[in-house]
Amino acid sequence: MEDYEKLLKKAEEELPEKTSSGDRFVLEKVRGHLEGNKTILINLKKIAKDLGRDEQHLLKYLLRELATPGKIIRGRVILGTKVSATKINKKIKKYVSEFVYCSECNKPDTELTEDKNIAYLKCLACGAKKPVKSIK
Ligand SMILES: [Zn+2]
Repeated sequence: MEDYEKLLKKAEEELPEKTSSGDRFVLEKVRGHLEGNKTILINLKKIAKDLGRDEQHLLKYLLRELATPGKIIRGRVILGTKVSATKINKKIKKYVSEFVYCSECNKPDTELTEDKNIAYLKCLACGAKKPVKSIK
């Protein structure tokens, strides 16, 4: 019987991981254009909203990752250097995996909270709470 139990356990372990059904939002591609040697993004606010995140938080992350200065002027994001949309989209994807999707259950039903100056990604679906980089 012991072998059978072992086998059962093994079978359980080998079950494929639950596939992500959490893809409820379609990540919009960043839109914008170059103006001289600046990059203008017109839909970062919308992207942040779709992700349920603060635009400033997303922007600060992008500025840090892209190592470029930037700010929001009249609803548009102005980056101080030329940055390709491909590069920005890649960073947004990275942001999503770091700050939106739960690393335990892979669902996007999460919120960012802060506790004693440590930022956490808290999952509303499974309750997991994981420290994340603080972006200030
Ligand atoms: Zn979760």
